[in-house]
Amino acid sequence: MPELPEVETVCRGLAPHLENRVLRGARVREPRLRWPVPPDLDDLTRGQRVHHLSRRGKYLLAQLDSGTLIMHLGMSGSLRLSSASIAPEKHDHVDLLLDDDRVLRYRDPRRFGALLWSADPAQHPLIAHLGVEPLSEAFNAGSLHAMCQGRSMAIKLLLMDARLIVGVGNIYANESLFHAGIDPRLAAGKLSRPRCARLVAAVQETLAKAIAAGGSSLRDFVDGHGNPGYFQQGYFVYGRTGEPCHACGTLVRQIRQSARSSFYCPHCQRR
Ligand SMILES: [Zn+2]
Repeated sequence: MPELPEVETVCRGLAPHLENRVLRGARVREPRLRWPVPPDLDDLTRGQRVHHLSRRGKYLLAQLDSGTLIMHLGMSGSLRLSSASIAPEKHDHVDLLLDDDRVLRYRDPRRFGALLWSADPAQHPLIAHLGVEPLSEAFNAGSLHAMCQGRSMAIKLLLMDARLIVGVGNIYANESLFHAGIDPRLAAGKLSRPRCARLVAAVQETLAKAIAAGGSSLRDFVDGHGNPGYFQQGYFVYGRTGEPCHACGTLVRQIRQSARSSFYCPHCQRR
């Protein structure tokens, strides 16, 4: 599943190809994504200039003349630039037609993604209630500590709560807590301010490293060939149940928290 670093990589990779281009419209072959693709997408996008491509949480926002396309990659979605002459394949559900004979092609085998239109994306129900961006200055030791105050929920669940902090998915929550030396079950309200500072640094470094790793995959989604696979990295705890911790050799443990797997080193990560 694409997480924040993948979406950021897609955004950085596509922005120079899309910004200042004019759309010639859209071709919708399958409107049944997580929510229906607007039936008038072709009319909405025809003749519209792409002013800016940005990311909010895991949403990509393409700001056009009279509105914004909100795109989400869901579980299995990808966006690629491709020559208009390349025939779409089975799961290529939507093409946005560019003015240079290329198309931005949305592929999504599982159809959990979204392609929506909004005149005012900041007020859109999917966007309006999103929490702080973890890579922004607004996410810092003070703001995280304030968020944690009085909360008994486990710190890992707080990290993954998109109403508080956006885009820290399961992989990055696990890895960040390892690097900060914090047990994922610790009640958020018990996190001291210095530990909040360590956790903020760990989240930002973990995400930044993943984004940097993603840079090497840019070619995969701008040349229209191959699979735009989500980058696999070496993890410290994620998916390493029963394997020795890279720092201390203690075996990594796995537990369930709110129906998601948590992985942690019982020696390096403390309550
Ligand atoms: Zn360890």
